[in-house]
Amino acid sequence: MARYRDSLCRLCRREGIKLFLKAERCLTVKCAIEKRAYPPGQHGQGRPKFSEYGVQLREKQKVRRIYGVLEKQFRKYFKIADRKKGVTGENLLQLLEMRFDNVVYRLGLAGSRNAARQLVRHNHFYVNGRRVNIPSYMVKKGDVIAPAPNKAEKFPIKTALEGMRGKSLPQWLAFDEDNKQGLIQSLPSREDVTLPIQEQLIVELYSR
Ligand code: SF4
Repeated sequence: MARYRDSLCRLCRREGIKLFLKAERCLTVKCAIEKRAYPPGQHGQGRPKFSEYGVQLREKQKVRRIYGVLEKQFRKYFKIADRKKGVTGENLLQLLEMRFDNVVYRLGLAGSRNAARQLVRHNHFYVNGRRVNIPSYMVKKGDVIAPAPNKAEKFPIKTALEGMRGKSLPQWLAFDEDNKQGLIQSLPSREDVTLPIQEQLIVELYSR
């Protein structure tokens, strides 16, 4: 399975914003954006000039990197979003939000989407009582997500569960602290995506 293996902070610097790809480190002064808030590379400190295409491309890359999705799969999501009823850009964000690794992250069971992805791959979670280890698995309304019984009492799940108390979640998710399980209450709406994303630019890019 293909996956990005280079520096994650480099991606943030390229996009010029914090993409929060590294859990706690992103909130400290060690964050590369805090230290070097310009694009990586020899000409990083020059003045960038973006064409209309360049602006659209950067927006698409930013969203792809936030959710940790490679180009081929991102295009597939776009095609599905385009075929669905409603606004294509919003459909696209909804599909990305409903990826299993994103849901684990949004529930607070992992510090970043990358960490969530790894935990999912390593069999740490069940969906509706069945083990699911595919990060791109699409959750549905009513799905129940719980740590695997043999993992709930071990690091890092135990630490994450201890930190859940009183944590605010997006409206479409709920967490039952007694039973240690998350619930998909509804489909995520555009308002639930609080990141600075202009999805219309992605639609324009793929509609060229
Ligand atoms: Fe991005 Fe986090 Fe690295 Fe900062 S520490 S540059 S937010 S991945």
